[in-house]
Amino acid sequence: MPTGHRATGAAPNGAPDIAALDRNDPLKDRRELFSIPDGVLYLDGNSLGVLPKSVPARLAEAVTKEWGESLIRAWNEHGWIDLPQRVGDRIARIIGAAPGQVTACDSTSINVFKVLAAALALRPDRKVILSDSGNFPTDLYMAQGLRDLLGQGHELKIVAPEQVEAAIGEDVAVVMLTQVDYRSGRLHDMAAITAIAHAAGALTIWDLAHSAGALPVELDAAGADFAVGCGYKYLNGGPGAPAFLYVAQRHLDHVAPPLTGWMGHAAPFAFDLDYRADTGIGRMRVGTPPILSLVALEAALAAFEGVDMAALRAKSISLSELFRAEVERRCPDLELASPRDPQARGSQVSFRFEHGYALMQALIARGVIGDFRAPDVVRFGFTPLYLSHADVMAACDILQEIMETRAWDRPEFHKRAKVT
Ligand SMILES: *Cc1c(COP(=O)(O)O)cnc(C)c1O
Repeated sequence: MPTGHRATGAAPNGAPDIAALDRNDPLKDRRELFSIPDGVLYLDGNSLGVLPKSVPARLAEAVTKEWGESLIRAWNEHGWIDLPQRVGDRIARIIGAAPGQVTACDSTSINVFKVLAAALALRPDRKVILSDSGNFPTDLYMAQGLRDLLGQGHELKIVAPEQVEAAIGEDVAVVMLTQVDYRSGRLHDMAAITAIAHAAGALTIWDLAHSAGALPVELDAAGADFAVGCGYKYLNGGPGAPAFLYVAQRHLDHVAPPLTGWMGHAAPFAFDLDYRADTGIGRMRVGTPPILSLVALEAALAAFEGVDMAALRAKSISLSELFRAEVERRCPDLELASPRDPQARGSQVSFRFEHGYALMQALIARGVIGDFRAPDVVRFGFTPLYLSHADVMAACDILQEIMETRAWDRPEFHKRAKVT
């Protein structure tokens, strides 16, 4: 260690030693795997991950050689037919699941519908779907649609996140939660809630949209029943990348898939007139998989190969704590909207500000990309694979300047776009 730097990252005057933190970062070499535009400080990997450098060439190969030359033969010759399972097993390693329980397919919204229907069918005598007000709206919307479609008198009960444990009673069929709150970053204790749910005879569905690739997830160890998540957030699979779903091994041979498409059939190319569910996780698939998107996601997942998820979590906390502390110290008008305890949140930090939308537009104009969530939350995601502590400090400098000069208060920053 050179003199003058301490491994803790604290400089002699008590300020964080940013250079030492980055020098001692065990994940620092991973940044090279990603294509980050010059002048951009990207704090939105929780919404859309950046482009991994390996993806364009792999996609071009899949388009020109596999599709272009092999044509329909590619389903066998290039293993297209097995891609959903191959990608599923890669994701399984990142979320603490043994092989054979995860498949990449459809969107998260569709997968919520599928696993919720499957779970409710396993608890026919119970009528309550329990969720919380921190859940992402699409999960709640899908539950409402399924409830109405089933017409069996199910109730979607939505309680405050702190009230979930107390609301798990003998009437609850399924506890359906997003582990990391998309707005505040608050982290639910998956193992504890799953144990309480099981003690009451209920099943659990975990949405890992803001967990997968952001922190260690242990689905098998926690005893989770079902899970879903996104391919385009921390997993960097690209816009609209296929999502994933998990069904615990002990349920695999009992679950009845609600969408009985031919790709979930035991023998799709027998062209039987009657549906017969595939064995294992394959039965949760529906139609022809989006090969080009799966190819991109598979290439992107290579960036996680050999990553120690505990080290990833440690860096995520180091980055997000640096940001939280600096912003709270330098920008008193921003009110912390995330848990202060880093163990109680995922890999993001949010602040409340009355003019949050305009503030985020001003930040984006200066190359600091986060996002805004109505009504007043500015959200910053910290992706340990490609962000450094120096990036975080540079973003803090720009944020402080914008707040001090009120640069956000320009008419063009108040005009709302379709996507925030
Ligand atoms: C991002 C997100 C989704 C997105 O669902 P899509 O079907 O991919 O649009 C769903 N659930 C949660 C919790 C999310 O954060």
